[in-house]
Amino acid sequence: MYRALNFNAGPAALPEEVLKEAEKNLLNFSNTGMGIMELSHRSKEYQAVHDQAITLLRKLLAIPDDYEVLFIQGGASLQFSMVPMNLLGKDQEAHYILSGSWSEKALKEADKIGKTVISASSKDQKYRFIPAYNQNDIPDNAAYLHITSNNTIYGTQWKTFPSNKKTPLVADMSSDILSRPLGVEQFDLIYAGAQKNLGPSGVTVVIIRKELLQRSSENLPAMLNYNTFANNNSLYNTPPTLAIYLLSLVLEWADKKGGLQQIEKANEKKAKMLYDVIDESEGFYIGHAHKDSRSLMNVTFNLQNEDLSREFLHQAKEAGFVGLGGHRSIGGCRASIYNAVPEQHVEKLAAFMKAFKNNS
Ligand code: PMP
Repeated sequence: MYRALNFNAGPAALPEEVLKEAEKNLLNFSNTGMGIMELSHRSKEYQAVHDQAITLLRKLLAIPDDYEVLFIQGGASLQFSMVPMNLLGKDQEAHYILSGSWSEKALKEADKIGKTVISASSKDQKYRFIPAYNQNDIPDNAAYLHITSNNTIYGTQWKTFPSNKKTPLVADMSSDILSRPLGVEQFDLIYAGAQKNLGPSGVTVVIIRKELLQRSSENLPAMLNYNTFANNNSLYNTPPTLAIYLLSLVLEWADKKGGLQQIEKANEKKAKMLYDVIDESEGFYIGHAHKDSRSLMNVTFNLQNEDLSREFLHQAKEAGFVGLGGHRSIGGCRASIYNAVPEQHVEKLAAFMKAFKNNS
């Protein structure tokens, strides 16, 4: 069957095995005579899927027992609001490190809820790198420090994370969760929309240190309060059952691959193929990110002028590559190479980039 060379930024490529397994179960899940989407979310069959997704996330990310795993709808964008609504007290400040447009959007929502401070930013350098930040600028009583671990649009990624035991660390990991081993205990809250490395859009994973749950005001609407999800195993209302089912299949796939160490190795290999082409192109391809901030998930680059970029994207499309245009806000080119993008597809792209250069 024809499968596109899919480099979309999200929703993005999913493992073919997962799609085939899902296809079978759309009509008849586990001999129930009902498709997975037709099952009650209170049925034992769905409950097993739900619990399996949580168990596998806990296993793969080595999530300690003092964290809750929640499934919420509304995308990562709703978390831009839920984080400050639940965690930002009246007399506190929330600190944000700006490393791209998604951090800016997170900050903008927090501004509506309470006091915020920009602790560091690389905006005036076109977000080409993860900004250095000064630990001393963060007061010990800050509500939290918010970072975006991977900047999907600019193609930069945090390599090591800030640490201040007294200030909770919150991370938007939408575009690199499950791409490398993580010390979850470095963080107090992690959130990620599923539609890059975890599955389809429709479910957002939130991993929260239980202690933080005490902060949420009882006056919050139920669906905006983390406790509603934590107290009901994310089954207070109808969860996005199909998205969670696909998440469980993607997690099984990742587990079979050998877990996050193996996945990281594969991701490093794929990213190196493209960055090598950029670095060896004598300035034909110009990487957007500084080398020490390069993302393993989103490889961003430009050609020498817009006409050439346009021609590159045109020929790439003709050759069957999908999703290589940069984000509409910055243009240029971007190859998103999440976990499920096969190595052979990246090889083909690297070969295409070399050939395009040689023929220009
Ligand atoms: N944060 C990051 C890092 C993202 O890449 C995206 C989406 N591409 C978002 C947040 C917004 O996610 P959603 O569309 O799920 O609200």
